[in-house]
Amino acid sequence: MSANAVVVGAGFGGLAAAIGLAARGVAVQVVEAGAGPGGKADVAVLEGVEVDTGPSVLTLPEVFDAVFRLAGSSLKDEIALVEPTAGSPSFRYHFADGARVDIFVAAEDTVASVGRSLGSEAAQDLARFLQDARTIWEAAAPHFVLGPPPAFWNLMSFEALIALLHIDPLRTMQSGIARRVRSPHLRRVLWRYATYNGSDPRRAPATLNCIAHVELALGGFGVRGGVHALVRALVSAAQRLGVEFQWDSPVTRIDVQSGRARGVEVRGKLLPADIVVANADAAHVSQDLLVKGQLPLRASQASLSGWTGVLRAQKLIGRAAHTVVFPEDYQAEFVDMFDRNRAPSDPAVYLCAQDLAHERPSWPDSQPVFVMANAPAGCAEVAELEVAALQRARAAGLLQPDDRLLWSRTPQELAARFPGSQGSLYGAASNGPWAAFARPANRASKVRGLYLASGSAHPGGGMPLCARSGLTAAECAMDDLRAGRTLAQPLARLEERR
Ligand SMILES: Cc1cc2nc3c(=O)[nH]c(=O)nc-3n(C[C@H](O)[C@H](O)[C@H](O)COP(=O)(O)OP(=O)(O)OC[C@H]3O[C@@H](n4cnc5c(N)ncnc54)[C@H](O)[C@@H]3O)c2cc1C
Repeated sequence: MSANAVVVGAGFGGLAAAIGLAARGVAVQVVEAGAGPGGKADVAVLEGVEVDTGPSVLTLPEVFDAVFRLAGSSLKDEIALVEPTAGSPSFRYHFADGARVDIFVAAEDTVASVGRSLGSEAAQDLARFLQDARTIWEAAAPHFVLGPPPAFWNLMSFEALIALLHIDPLRTMQSGIARRVRSPHLRRVLWRYATYNGSDPRRAPATLNCIAHVELALGGFGVRGGVHALVRALVSAAQRLGVEFQWDSPVTRIDVQSGRARGVEVRGKLLPADIVVANADAAHVSQDLLVKGQLPLRASQASLSGWTGVLRAQKLIGRAAHTVVFPEDYQAEFVDMFDRNRAPSDPAVYLCAQDLAHERPSWPDSQPVFVMANAPAGCAEVAELEVAALQRARAAGLLQPDDRLLWSRTPQELAARFPGSQGSLYGAASNGPWAAFARPANRASKVRGLYLASGSAHPGGGMPLCARSGLTAAECAMDDLRAGRTLAQPLARLEERR
């Protein structure tokens, strides 16, 4: 079986799809609009030091291990995961009343730390909450995350119906948390996990409380040398399988004839292909690369965006790799962003010291600190958000007055860089019980030979989920090839005979 594929975009979904296809004998070209790979997981070189400008916490590394295994290696052969040294927290949460909570690599250490900071009742609640979060994860992951896109008829099996009973889909995250956790401080920490896929804890299904299990029990990791080291390793693995890359090559059209993708147009020339995988945002594919109606999308709310910046900051003794500073009224942030569609007036701020989180080389006297304050996708007014975020970090002692902002990006700049995304970080938000069913599937139903692999397709955003999206897209394409649903040549010959 000889077939060729074009992958549009070299983000995590595109890279995983390219490896998934090339490992099975398909000739793959990746065509990327940007100057290099990574998509949202990009880098910038600032005063001689390379910094990540995108994601900073890697979860579910086993998904990337599966990608590398297809290329004949493994995650540990390719990158080194970074965890804080024993006794150092991975995350530190600061609250407006001066309370602090430290999160550690081992869940039992986190429970003990919560006990020390917030009392034994909070520790007991967290331990029980994590048990429930694990139950949800184990029931939901095969059907909504690691498997093919969920469909109502697939959920009619006995096993799937039992799983549905465990995943708490009809309650909201916030009410699920309120039932189990009494500490207002701990509640805020747990609401924040909704923002890990850009959603609103007041609307997202309680199923998403499983994110707490993924983060606190399965672990959030750094990548030695920076998250972009993972991107580079994926590109090298793909190249070893013969995948070719073209940079600075925006695709302007996906060619579809007789209901089948035939290739893509780059700089006015057609690049023919039996298989087209779109790592670009699904809205861009639907609105700009295809003819109207070829990829109908269900209306959905975009996930959160944010103002992001990188500072050259004075080295602080005792700084945690990741820090979140909450405002007094964290609930108001969700009201601002999701009900009023505006940047929060009093934002929570996230900081990542990249030298600590990723053992990234830094300046001798200072460290690269990534800062993010969430804002709605498409938000145009973020000047005040930037000021408020930096002030909050300074007031918490995490930035000094002479720390310098070297790089920043607004939601609108993010939107311009990733067409169709509106600047959202994770594709569509999961703001309702049926969100998982509304997300585009990895196989385009109306265009044979076209597959979607990105945070805007199943199973959603975040590094491991995007890689899983790419693997699922490649698996769908291979199933279709084997079944003779895709390959251009036999069909072309049939058409000639007619
Ligand atoms: C600031 C920030 C912080 C984040 N933090 C985390 C985190 O801590 N942990 C986590 O897991 N996730 C995090 N995320 C989310 C994560 O980075 C994304 O979900 C993931 O990287 C998206 O991958 P993707 O496969 O959807 O591709 P994308 O990264 O969206 O890349 C798509 C690629 O397609 C290319 N493309 C688009 N259109 C065309 C075209 N017409 N022709 C050619 N190429 C095209 C683009 O140039 C781009 O390179 C964060 C994201 C951001 C921005």
